[in-house]
Amino acid sequence: MKVGVGARTDVGLLREGNEDAYLAEDVLFAVADGMGGHLAGDVASSITVDALRERAAEEPPADPDALAGLLYRANTAIFERARHDPSLHGMGTTCTALMIGAEEAHIAHVGDSRAYLLRNGSLSQLTQDHTLVNRMVQEGKLRSEDAERHPQRSVLTRALGVDPEVKIDTQSLDTKEGDRLLLCSDGLTSMVDTDSIAEALRSEKDPQSAADHLVEIAIAAGGEDNVTVVVLDLTTEGVVVPREDTEVGAGIPIARSGDFSGSESGFQQPGVGIPQGRTRASTSEAVPSHKRERTLLLSALVLLVLVALAYAGTRFALSNSYFVGVNDDRRITIFSGIPERILGIAFREPKDQSYVTLSDLPPFKQEDVREGIRVDSLADAHALVDSLEELASDPELKPNRRRS
Ligand code: CA
Repeated sequence: MKVGVGARTDVGLLREGNEDAYLAEDVLFAVADGMGGHLAGDVASSITVDALRERAAEEPPADPDALAGLLYRANTAIFERARHDPSLHGMGTTCTALMIGAEEAHIAHVGDSRAYLLRNGSLSQLTQDHTLVNRMVQEGKLRSEDAERHPQRSVLTRALGVDPEVKIDTQSLDTKEGDRLLLCSDGLTSMVDTDSIAEALRSEKDPQSAADHLVEIAIAAGGEDNVTVVVLDLTTEGVVVPREDTEVGAGIPIARSGDFSGSESGFQQPGVGIPQGRTRASTSEAVPSHKRERTLLLSALVLLVLVALAYAGTRFALSNSYFVGVNDDRRITIFSGIPERILGIAFREPKDQSYVTLSDLPPFKQEDVREGIRVDSLADAHALVDSLEELASDPELKPNRRRS
């Protein structure tokens, strides 16, 4: 069986960098979606893809266990790298790897990237997401239609590199000529529903066009995350190889979230930028003193009203914004307000706190919470805290087991 390949990765519209990586080489394919602060996720996904490429060249995996063996080695490589470099602590990555054999395909998988099979026009998902919400769905604690919009839908229960050991799912499937396989990061599946993915895969004959189309619809839907797709056509005919330059959008300057350097000088404390009208202008001598006093009084009143309005407006806006962060006791806390400080001033008010502390969470989640996670509503904030409490109680993710 020959393999026609299309592949593309894109930073998306909101992210600072691309922490996804993919491999498309001979008969070995993979998508890895890294996580960790300050582009550590980029390191984790690159280590994985590089390790797969190198090891596969030395000893090509012949069965799913051999393919899983490559992922175990990548797990160790990431974990060791993070152990020796504090700036990379907590980094990790998903990986969905696929090997095409003569009449079968082998899959090894950890995390929430996915593998799909399009056969005879119908699309089936081959992998299970290792996410908290997927587990809650399976345990009957959450409806699957609510899972798609859950604020913590991307919290992983398993990833490469965060623990010395990791459990890897494996499977093999018999392949048929005409099968089309898709590997993708959650930047596609969180933005585009399954029907639209199926439609895109059915409508494009060429695998590269299909890959391009999928990335385009993920970006058109908001492009909130890095998006990576690998499309494979199993055929006995001529083979299409992926383009060399598959990265797009890298040269376009993207406004960084939390980067206010451009607008900082525009911030003003109430009143600071308002003309005071108190310069000793010679013309003031011509104004009768009682009139001058009245003008001054009026200016002060206007100023007071403006400050009061600004204050009320800010209070109103902040009382309708919520985020989940930590309080002074390091407890997970729901705040109304915003996680950022403006001119060194915090605009937040605690609403509710959890029994869980920051150190109860696995390291890869601690940084997000420390910085504060914005949510759309108080209900979303409670849903997020529920999932964090679930995460803290997960025996697979006990933080004290993490570093020896
Ligand atoms: Ca992602």
